[in-house]
Amino acid sequence: MILEARGLTKNFGGIKALNGVDLYLRRGELAGLIGPNGSGKTTVFNVITGIYRPDRGTVNMDANRIAGLAPHRISRLGIARTFQNIRLFRNLSVMDNVRAAYHPSVPYGPVSAVCRTNRYLDGEKAIGENVTELLSFFSLQDRRLEHAKNLSYGDQRRLEIARALASGPKILLLDEPAAGMNHSEVEKLMGFILEARKRFSLTILLIEHQMRLVMGICERLVVMDFGEVIAEGTPAEIRKDPRVIEAYLGHRPAGDTSEVRD
Ligand code: ADP
Ligand code: MG
Repeated sequence: MILEARGLTKNFGGIKALNGVDLYLRRGELAGLIGPNGSGKTTVFNVITGIYRPDRGTVNMDANRIAGLAPHRISRLGIARTFQNIRLFRNLSVMDNVRAAYHPSVPYGPVSAVCRTNRYLDGEKAIGENVTELLSFFSLQDRRLEHAKNLSYGDQRRLEIARALASGPKILLLDEPAAGMNHSEVEKLMGFILEARKRFSLTILLIEHQMRLVMGICERLVVMDFGEVIAEGTPAEIRKDPRVIEAYLGHRPAGDTSEVRD
């Protein structure tokens, strides 16, 4: 187990966003987190990454207790994420968006940066090489000088993932990476996620509404509803789980089970 969360509870005023959530990740797996809108999926990510401190519960990553640590410390321990709504520096180049993600952990101070010492120049060179590797991997190298805002939606989503990987994480949390993508972009993204897991030795947890994506690439699914985990299993098991079908039906127009069946 690389990550284990137990009993996570988080209230916002009167809303129980999380109500005793247990969740684990096996090292190297690609798991999916699904559930109707408002069921608490993004809040799980926000608690794991330190944006929110849980009211109750623990999160362990390897031997470290991480619940309540500041986001930058959790990031340094090896957890990175993308956001449901794309967060890029719109007016920076593709290359600089990824480059900016390196600097917090660069091992030299502002003085050597100003004086352009060898250490600084070596560091910059290494970063440049890593940025090139990431951009090439995500097929964004040709667009490296373009402003992020000029990329297609699918390219922006991939750029966000490239940037998340700049910190060299062990665990990658993807919050609806296929939102707004068309069919062929989703296909392409599935390939990238699978390849990235191998190439960068990642454990991945994916929140996604597009059932084609989660059912297609996830080995295990965790289903939430009203702040609780209501089911867990392989995609085949989840597809037939009556509680899951009920959860989706309960939030949807009668007869529409497309998100479960698809
Ligand atoms: P999901 O990602 O599954 O759609 P969220 O985790 O975003 O769900 O939200 C779960 C519930 O918690 C929702 O009712 C949402 O409105 C509420 N919530 C999430 N974040 C906040 C916040 N910062 N302040 C108030 N309510 C929040
Ligand atoms: Mg969400």
